[in-house]
Amino acid sequence: MPAIALGVPLILLAIARLGGFQGWELAAFDVLMAHRGDGGLDSRFSIVEITEADINQYRWPLSERLLARALDRLQTARPKAIGLDLDLDKGSRSLESALMLQLDADNVIAAHTIDTKATEAIPPPEIVPPKRVGFNNIEIDSDNVVRRSWLALPSPNSDPHYSFSLRLALAYLQDRGISLEPVPHTSAKLHAKFQLGQAVLSPLQSSSGGYTHLQLNGSQILLNYHSPNPKVRRITFGQVLRGEVEPDLIRDKIILVGSTAPSLKERFNTPYTRTGDREVRMPAVFLHAQMTAQLVDAALGKRVLFWWVPDAVEVLWLLGWSGLGGVISWKLKHPGKLAGAIVLALLGLGAIEWGLFALKVWIPPILPLVGFLVTIGGVAIYKFLYNTFYDSLTGLPNRLLFANHLKLASDRLELTPDERLGVIFLDVDRFKAINGCLGHKAGDRLLKEMGGRISQCLRSADRVARVGGDEFAILVDRIKDVRDATSIARRIRKQLKRPFYLSGQSVFTSASMGIAMSNGSHRDLLRDAHTAMYRAKGLEKTQPEVFDPSMESQAIAQFELELDLRKSMAHTFLFEASDDQTRKWLEDENSHLPHSQFGEEFRVYYQPLVSLKSGKIAGFEALVRWQHPTRGFVSPEEFIPVAEKTGLIIPLGMWILREACRQTHQWQMQFNAPSIVSVNLSGKQFAQVDLVAQIDRILGQTHLDPHSLKLEITEGVVMENVEKTIETLRKMKALNIQLGIDDFGTGYSSFSYLSRFPTDTLKIDRAFVRCMGEKVENRAIVQTIVMLAHTLGMDAIAEGVETREQWQQLRDIGCEYGQGYFFSKALSGREATELLASQPRWSLALDACLHGVGESGMAGE
Ligand code: C2E
Ligand code: MG
Ligand code: MG
Repeated sequence: MPAIALGVPLILLAIARLGGFQGWELAAFDVLMAHRGDGGLDSRFSIVEITEADINQYRWPLSERLLARALDRLQTARPKAIGLDLDLDKGSRSLESALMLQLDADNVIAAHTIDTKATEAIPPPEIVPPKRVGFNNIEIDSDNVVRRSWLALPSPNSDPHYSFSLRLALAYLQDRGISLEPVPHTSAKLHAKFQLGQAVLSPLQSSSGGYTHLQLNGSQILLNYHSPNPKVRRITFGQVLRGEVEPDLIRDKIILVGSTAPSLKERFNTPYTRTGDREVRMPAVFLHAQMTAQLVDAALGKRVLFWWVPDAVEVLWLLGWSGLGGVISWKLKHPGKLAGAIVLALLGLGAIEWGLFALKVWIPPILPLVGFLVTIGGVAIYKFLYNTFYDSLTGLPNRLLFANHLKLASDRLELTPDERLGVIFLDVDRFKAINGCLGHKAGDRLLKEMGGRISQCLRSADRVARVGGDEFAILVDRIKDVRDATSIARRIRKQLKRPFYLSGQSVFTSASMGIAMSNGSHRDLLRDAHTAMYRAKGLEKTQPEVFDPSMESQAIAQFELELDLRKSMAHTFLFEASDDQTRKWLEDENSHLPHSQFGEEFRVYYQPLVSLKSGKIAGFEALVRWQHPTRGFVSPEEFIPVAEKTGLIIPLGMWILREACRQTHQWQMQFNAPSIVSVNLSGKQFAQVDLVAQIDRILGQTHLDPHSLKLEITEGVVMENVEKTIETLRKMKALNIQLGIDDFGTGYSSFSYLSRFPTDTLKIDRAFVRCMGEKVENRAIVQTIVMLAHTLGMDAIAEGVETREQWQQLRDIGCEYGQGYFFSKALSGREATELLASQPRWSLALDACLHGVGESGMAGE
């Protein structure tokens, strides 16, 4: 951005130096000038105009005798000064004596025209002393507008020539003791400054006031017009000759004699001409009146001289506006705000220019205006390109730019067959949790710092990009084999292992990484590396995984499973949805799914929980079953994790819960047995904010007594966010629901936390039960768990009881309940109903199996 805010002014200055802005700047000058107030009638002046009628009457050129008579008439009324804006140069011929006499009066100023381009100045006519002769040249800008007024032209051998208006002003000011003094120590003779009364006249430089390369060989100032139209008393030449003039119009005034007849002289364009009024084209005599008025006013201390800033200030002014444009365009993202700021800034620029102009300070406004707008445009384009290719948070390239780098590097590989290319895909572990616990700002900081640390681990040929929320991709270029990529990945891992300081605390995090290597086949390395990363994450590996094509088929398989899961869920729930969430889910899903033709694919199965003491059924655990039309039976171990990952577990889990509650209530009515149903809750479900309310609603809908429901939460889930868990568990407990910890022994429980959980049962994982018979130590472990449960005031239940010996041992240890194939597999609703109807009771007695059902130890009652 700074480069643009600096580059734009530099380019504009170059264009300005070539004159590219002169026309615009001068036009701006005209606009400001034309919109100023009118100076009103200037009563110090009277103009004797030689009109078309006068010329018709007295011929042109006027005879010297007539002129002498007119002067005589004028002098009798005692004017302060008379300026003759007439060409009196007759070459060598001598003038009429009457005129000579009039010209001898020391308040008469004569005019002559000088060739300003000539190195040799033309000497003034000899009839009047040089002191009373001024040159009446009028300077016209390239666009034909008069904006400047002459002061002096240097003369090689004598004093400088002074302009007609300066001479006239001096004649007027003479009796106030005001004369013209050169300001000492002003460097170049051409641009010497003059002191005139209270004013210092500083001449224009060749590139000041919006001009570029003014051809100056004398001193000029900017003409400050008194008024757009000649606002002076006008008397015709004829009136003077005929003595029809009131002496008041002459006495003590500056009288300017000149022609206004359109047939004689060109009229001149002024800044006001732009307003379209042809009348404001001024005859020279009026222009000289304006010029003289400005000099007289200045000498008397009025602010009428324009002050233009030095070139360096113009450059600073331009830099300032470009900088402002850059900052506005960079900072403001909202288009409305940006437009508002631009309008405000432009109004500000206009107001400043206008205010300064009113104080007679003229700073060309077009250059800063263009600088401001072009920088805004330039920065906007830069911002667009930046946002297209870069990530604004970390400043790293984004996925699009990374893909470009990858493509270029891959194309180059074809030319350098010895080299290889690797892509590392990195995903931050538990980023959501960090974001959730420490806030988004901390999350952002973490990502930024990670980007920085990763960059530090790379060689100059490598590139890192942020390709997703918490995902980075690294292109490792020009390597020999996979070991080079792996070593870079390890280096990154080491860097990321160091703590990050966020929100005043050290945060430890890790990342899962996948690597894909180029191998001549045109594969999408970024996708492959992503697949490998996914595998690393799934296996909770700390080492980077290297992609191999079999991973892809697994990923596809997972994806297909997810698709089937969605379809089957829609089929199953189609006519059953009764809670809001499921109904909403269904509405979304069904918007793009055909109507079911398969019927129910999910079923809830029930596995008996048996009292190890009595051998009687104490309840059931509800376990979901998925019978897919083409896949056949899909194990929950396979699809529950997918449902969990995709969030599908939420509608599915609620459906299972309602189904289990409905069935249990039905059994209670049918068999009058106070039976319990255990339902598994997954981590995702458990994290839902309105979970307790939903469960309460389902209990209400199915009329099940809350005490008959037991929710099983795995050890891993309860230990994840202990305080939050305790809060949720308490709320459940308040509804009188029972709670159990599932798969105990597989996670990492902290005993101090365990005592704070309001849970009723501890379910010993089947892995412990299975190996209980193998060693005494194993049995001791189970015994310890049971004792722990009892110490904490909980019941113990053993999972995976497959043999009579296990039952026996567990009962001896004091474990209350058991569940397993020895008693029964999970049964369909109908089978479980039949089982309940038979009022089964399992017996430890060996011969019981003779009377029992099949292999299991059930004894008929
Ligand atoms: P879990 O909650 O620990 O369920 C016990 C698992 O052990 C069940 O497997 C059950 O069939 C199996 N099992 C029972 N007796 C024996 C035995 O004697 N020997 C052996 N080897 N296994 C036995 P299932 O039904 O395949 O479920 C596996 C897991 O899937 C469950 O483990 C649970 O984590 C999850 N799951 C099942 N249904 C649901 C459900 O409705 N919701 C949720 N969130 N998870 C469920
Ligand atoms: Mg369970
Ligand atoms: Mg379990």
